[in-house]
Amino acid sequence: MAAEAYPGAQEFLPRQRDPTHLRRAAAQCRGCDLYRSATQVVFGNGPTPAELMLVGEQPGDSEDREGEPFVGPAGELLSQALENVGIDREQVYVTNAVKHFKWEARGKRRIHKKPSLREVRACTPWLSAELEVVQPRLLVCLGVTAATAVFGKTVRLKDYRGLFTRSALGPLAFVTTHPSALLRMRGRDGWEQEHRRFLTELKTVKAKLTA
Ligand code: SF4
Repeated sequence: MAAEAYPGAQEFLPRQRDPTHLRRAAAQCRGCDLYRSATQVVFGNGPTPAELMLVGEQPGDSEDREGEPFVGPAGELLSQALENVGIDREQVYVTNAVKHFKWEARGKRRIHKKPSLREVRACTPWLSAELEVVQPRLLVCLGVTAATAVFGKTVRLKDYRGLFTRSALGPLAFVTTHPSALLRMRGRDGWEQEHRRFLTELKTVKAKLTA
């Protein structure tokens, strides 16, 4: 039997749509069950408005502890990549499709667990609200979960990667891989090639912004 949908974040959205009110309201969200095992909500961060908005999957272990997106190893890789292609991270709004950390215990470690489609859907009202205040010209989906949220349907990375596509949420969207996926490849065959591809795709984004 199919699992029932979660109530979703909609009823937790504040009337006032500005970063402070959104962030405060998200901390109270009970739109799905992920708040139960996470330390805190991890809301988006960056200037508003911003020309470029990056959307990841969900907070990781470091983000969950610190309460900010992309501050762990994947965030470091992302920052270096942005710097490498000449995109100022300070000018970019960064967020995740799902705002609470989903994990499972393995010994003493908390291991990332991919959010389900139900959880992505439950959390999408926050992403829509962020878009209202950020008003980006371009939305970059880092990985398939972000693309699923942005296009409003299950997508395959290979069908969308490297392309500019009008998104269900409004702005023009570009899809690339998630820095965590790259990190998992580090030191293995194909790492250099995948990393180069990631940089090339970020250069494409930069070129689109400056066109
Ligand atoms: S993951 Fe999203 S919808 Fe679920 S409780 Fe957290 S903020 Fe709400």
